[in-house]
Amino acid sequence: MSTLPRVALITGITGQDGSYLAEFLLEKGYIVHGIKRRASSFNTQRVDHIYQDPHVDNARFKLHYGDLSDTSNLVRIIQETQPDEIYNLGAQSHVAVSFEAPEYTADVDAIGTLRLLEAIRILGLEKKTRFYQASTSELYGLVQETPQKETTPFYPRSPYAVAKLYAYWIVVNYREAYGLYACNGILFNHESPRRGETFVTRKITRGLANIAQGLEACLYMGNLDALRDWGHAKDYVRMQWMMLQQDQPEDFVIATGHQYSVRQFIDWTAAELGVTLQFQGEGVNEVAVVTHIQGDKAPALKLGQVIVKVDPRYFRPTEVETLLGDPGKAKQKLGWEPEITVQEMCSEMVAHDLEAARRHALL
Ligand code: GDP
Repeated sequence: MSTLPRVALITGITGQDGSYLAEFLLEKGYIVHGIKRRASSFNTQRVDHIYQDPHVDNARFKLHYGDLSDTSNLVRIIQETQPDEIYNLGAQSHVAVSFEAPEYTADVDAIGTLRLLEAIRILGLEKKTRFYQASTSELYGLVQETPQKETTPFYPRSPYAVAKLYAYWIVVNYREAYGLYACNGILFNHESPRRGETFVTRKITRGLANIAQGLEACLYMGNLDALRDWGHAKDYVRMQWMMLQQDQPEDFVIATGHQYSVRQFIDWTAAELGVTLQFQGEGVNEVAVVTHIQGDKAPALKLGQVIVKVDPRYFRPTEVETLLGDPGKAKQKLGWEPEITVQEMCSEMVAHDLEAARRHALL
């Protein structure tokens, strides 16, 4: 007996998680539809290789123009594609940017989620379509207990987090009100070589790789004391799918259970480049100085060179100082455990960004 392939629709397909999730679902035999925004420049770099991969049947991967701010467009795409699973990964996802564009962030991140849930209802797909919402550890903001788990009270600290708080609760409400199979994955920070260049980990690996090759002089950072629980996006998209395969919809925290500072991530990145740093000074005057160089990955550096400085422009009006997740429920109920350590991830990101920097240095 042959079964029809399952159909997934991913918002945010051009982002870090969207691209990893698309690969994961295609591997599982899904037909994958993605929604991308029209922009004046190309924005599909993270999924272009899927088209080029001869192992993937291209008819199983399709992109649609759309936008989470456009209700009729969303209804039409969902009607056309009749998805078994919707993964809502699309968002204005940068915390600092949300202070600059709070209304847009609310429209896309909060009301955009409502638009998708309403589209499922309008089209009478409540029984067919399962819904995954990309919720976030930013909901915990000014943390009320440590580590944070599914029952920890929320205290959002940015327009981004407040918008995501609405999205979280509207998902819970539609599950309870209409019996929708809808869940929140409360994901702690997750990174990879595909992470956007302005998030802190990627900014560090890319910035220091460029400095090592002489393409830039100094990396300007915000709060070096911030503590985060960083995992690898590849591990986390697997769990997004697992959440939609259960008998009952439930919300889960996805985290590693380990926490490190931004300063520590800078140290690991430098070490990957064969460089030892010493942090000197305090607050806005803190700098990182090169004290030892080995190997051939950082030919542009000199001993004593200052390669990291603090620039208050990267401080946030309200900061989330510390996040540490407890993934106990995911482990116990779904058997999920992260496979890639933060150090392995840092190593992969530096290798990727160093290769790009070397290519640029040759130009
Ligand atoms: P977030 O946890 O979703 O805000 O993810 P980010 O990667 O943007 O930021 C993680 C932490 O790093 C936050 O506490 C930031 O304040 C801190 N941070 C320190 N310097 C920087 C910087 O230059 N850029 C960014 N994006 N974050 C920084």
